[in-house]
Amino acid sequence: MTLNTRPSHLPTVWLRLVVASLCVLLLASAGWTRWADREHRVAKAEGDAGILARSLARHAADLFLIADLMSSDLADAAQAASADADPDRTVDLRVRHELARFPLVRSLEAYDAEGQRLTRPKPGLSEWTGIAEAPFFLERRFSPGSGLVIGEPIQAANGDGWIIPLSRRWNKADGSFGGVVVASLSSEALALFYHEFDVDGHAGISLMTETGTLLARYPFAPERIGRLKGLSPSLDDVRLYERGTFRRPSPIDGVWRIQAYQHVGNLPLVVFAGLSYETVLAGWLPSTLLVATGTVCLVVLLVGGSLFLERYLASNRSATVEMQHLAVTDALTGLGNRRAFDEACREEWERAAAEGQGVSLLLLDVDHFKSFNDTYGHPAGDACLRRIAQTLGTTVFGVLGRLARYGGEEFALLLIDVTPSVALLLADHVRIAVRNLELPHRGNLEGVATVSIGVASIVPREAGADGLAQLVKAADEALYRAKAEGRNCVCQAPLPTAARPDEMATPVVADAA
Ligand code: GH3
Ligand code: MG
Ligand code: MG
Repeated sequence: MTLNTRPSHLPTVWLRLVVASLCVLLLASAGWTRWADREHRVAKAEGDAGILARSLARHAADLFLIADLMSSDLADAAQAASADADPDRTVDLRVRHELARFPLVRSLEAYDAEGQRLTRPKPGLSEWTGIAEAPFFLERRFSPGSGLVIGEPIQAANGDGWIIPLSRRWNKADGSFGGVVVASLSSEALALFYHEFDVDGHAGISLMTETGTLLARYPFAPERIGRLKGLSPSLDDVRLYERGTFRRPSPIDGVWRIQAYQHVGNLPLVVFAGLSYETVLAGWLPSTLLVATGTVCLVVLLVGGSLFLERYLASNRSATVEMQHLAVTDALTGLGNRRAFDEACREEWERAAAEGQGVSLLLLDVDHFKSFNDTYGHPAGDACLRRIAQTLGTTVFGVLGRLARYGGEEFALLLIDVTPSVALLLADHVRIAVRNLELPHRGNLEGVATVSIGVASIVPREAGADGLAQLVKAADEALYRAKAEGRNCVCQAPLPTAARPDEMATPVVADAA
């Protein structure tokens, strides 16, 4: 016999849901805050790189303007000197004076139409030979424009390194080609200058033409000067916008940098300034590791705690199940106890009432059991009760009903949807089964243990509100009669108002085995 004692698994499900949600929330919020912090640092670095790029673009604009003014001045001087008797001296004086003021301008020289130098070389600089064949010289010679032109970087003779030639044509007084003025900037000197702006020790600064030729770079990379620099974003993007930022590894040294670019005034030049991720994210990684470790510990604690709680709940639940089982089970026989039986009776009563079924109640009482105890002892009496309980269980096995120890040496069997005559037959069957156990009982006239049974039947739907109590009372009275009639017999109570009319015609059966 069972009651509805199944414990709910809802608390465990809820616990898992809550813990899983908490873990997800924790991990998500930790991840999001660290990501937001990273993006904040990167955005700030983009701003800083942009400021650096703008400042250096401003500087480059000024530098080229100065070189332009100087070369323009020298071109004028060369033109004037072309008519002079001693041009060499006049021009040389100006150049020395100007070069001393602008150290980034490596040299400033004037050449005549045949490529002969009109100025004296800067002290320490080697002679530049074969200028008349240099591409920029030929271009100036055959193009009438007299503005400053930024040439492709070339390697100066005698290992003086890479220079950026800024050339300008000068004309004689009659308008014919007089020669070329060349101002040269040193790539290495520019790299040294950019080094001063290396705010993080891993910065990268480049000056290049809009067509992608590298003019100068810090860290200095002479093998890359004059070459096309691989660009991402593409040159088209760089040409399209005056300034911009992007994140990528440097195509030259492979260092990941946050890059900003800025066009140099109206010159066809672009300055790139990049700050390395290593510096930008310095401090971010350790704090992120710390947060990650803390979060993972918290998640582990949560999961561990919830598993512990789950186990505790499970053991509590099994203890509850055990207790609930004990509460409805008779310890001696293992059958349902009176409490369980009362509960079952109410359930079955309502179900039978709803479905229009009849119910029958069998009350069994062991005959002269006090005498059994007195004769054989209480433990033997217990064993006898256990045997009888087993027999009842096996005898009514398969019959729809509820069996329980009703109290002391009494048992009850509730049969559902069984006619009174079948109930009567079953009762007698049970009685015989107990007797056939042949448990010795000197105090009983039979010489063996026997039971007396009272049977009552009723149709709940037709019974009144106290129908169940009536059924019990009738079965009890029938049992009383069975005792009175000599025991080891079955008596059936007449319940003409509630039982089925055809079945109630059955007379009370008393056994005299
Ligand atoms: P009757 O035939 O009229 O039923 O006589 P009886 O002796 O069986 O009835 P009575 O009510 O006088 O005695 C019942 C006895 O059942 C008394 C009690 O000691 C015994 N009994 C009740 N519960 C247990 C039990 O769990 N174990 C044992 N060994 N005896 C029990
Ligand atoms: Mg009794
Ligand atoms: Mg008895």
